[in-house]
Amino acid sequence: MSNIFSGIKEAIKKFLSSTSPYEQSVEEFIRELQRILIKSDVNVKVVFEFTSKIRKRALEEKPPQGVSRRDWFIKIVYEELISLLGGEEELNVLPKKKPYVIMLVGVQGSGKTTTAAKLAWYYKNRGYRVGLIAADTFRAGAYEQLKQLAEKVGVEFWGDKGLNDPAEISRKGLEYHLSKKAEIIIIDTAGRHGYGEESKLIDEMKAIADAVKPDEVILVLDASIGQKAYDLAKKFHEATPIGSIIITKLDGTAKGGGAISAIAATGAKVKFVGTGEKVDEIEPFRPKNFASRILGMGDIEAILERVYSTMSQNELEEMADSLMSGNLNMKLIYKQIKQIRSMGPIGKILRMIPGLSMSLPEDEGALKVSEKKMDMWLNIINSMTYEEMEKPELLEREKSRIRRIAIGAGVAQEDVRELLNYYNYIKKLLKQLKRRKSLLKKFGG
Ligand code: GDP
Repeated sequence: MSNIFSGIKEAIKKFLSSTSPYEQSVEEFIRELQRILIKSDVNVKVVFEFTSKIRKRALEEKPPQGVSRRDWFIKIVYEELISLLGGEEELNVLPKKKPYVIMLVGVQGSGKTTTAAKLAWYYKNRGYRVGLIAADTFRAGAYEQLKQLAEKVGVEFWGDKGLNDPAEISRKGLEYHLSKKAEIIIIDTAGRHGYGEESKLIDEMKAIADAVKPDEVILVLDASIGQKAYDLAKKFHEATPIGSIIITKLDGTAKGGGAISAIAATGAKVKFVGTGEKVDEIEPFRPKNFASRILGMGDIEAILERVYSTMSQNELEEMADSLMSGNLNMKLIYKQIKQIRSMGPIGKILRMIPGLSMSLPEDEGALKVSEKKMDMWLNIINSMTYEEMEKPELLEREKSRIRRIAIGAGVAQEDVRELLNYYNYIKKLLKQLKRRKSLLKKFGG
């Protein structure tokens, strides 16, 4: 059990195969989890907060019908881990304004210079004109290193070896890149602090930030630095309201615990992770993926799928009942779209309803609605009046209403019409299903 990943996987296996009573297995698992996390350098306070949340939910929550307590427990651990790592939501990594100035800070060796080049690569490949500034005056080789990387990536570079004040370099570099119409400018900074001088790092960061007024300050953290990550991330977040974090070397570290502490300790969010030495080895941080990796997704995937599909079947039966007993309106469609988004394609879900699956059309094209479209449709429904939601048929008759809704939702009129078509389709389908269900009842199916 050398690291956090294999350790937790083992603990889960043990939990699932344990013959002890449920409560006792939970306690055993939690003790094991605490041991692994603390050994992996996760801050003790973070560990106890995390595990007490899991314990509380494990003992209080009742799994829905058809789901075992042990399976439900795995779901709790998975969800709490995601929330510890920053929640379900993914950060938007594309800048909202142009030009956008990013300042990188971090202790020497954390991977700042490499990360500056990686970011340049990432954004260049997404169509941005990127400029790099070498303002790391602490490490002798940083200038040449960044210059070479900038050439490799194919972005503009600015640096001046004759200067030794990072604030002055940054200011001049900024001027240069703005004159070249850069859209994203990334500054690789570092002052004269050394190891263990975190507060000096923060002071220096403030001085440079004062000079260049960056849109975002990113702390580059080496995943393997352990406990220090927690203190540093915390201090950093207190000093920088516009901050986020990039964790490097996640590929190499067996611990990763320091990184988890850092995430949990700060309101600052992890934006990217570095997974190798090459410029393309960077990816936006996805708490869900990371949680899956820690838990050994291959092993728990089947359990989670079982839990979620049972839940969605219960919910769906409820939803189908309410759809079938009441009148279909846009509010129900709204609810349905929201549920579909958390459950998977509607075709798959409808098939889970016993007795109904057979009556579904072969061609599921009309049932498949892409994520993006779902968002758009939710917007459209939000732009309807209460009356229109209750009685979407009103829209069919009045074109001006469709136009007004399209404008309100910022979409084309065809989009509104497409939603109406979907509504009509579901309406027709439900009619058929109702007929079939009543036939089934009649003949005891
Ligand atoms: P700086 O002093 O903070 O600018 O650090 P560097 O960018 O020079 O990186 C220090 C070392 O870490 C170099 O050998 C990099 O190749 C390496 N490095 C940086 N990021 C990663 C990463 O995500 N994974 C791995 N394995 N190595 C990395």
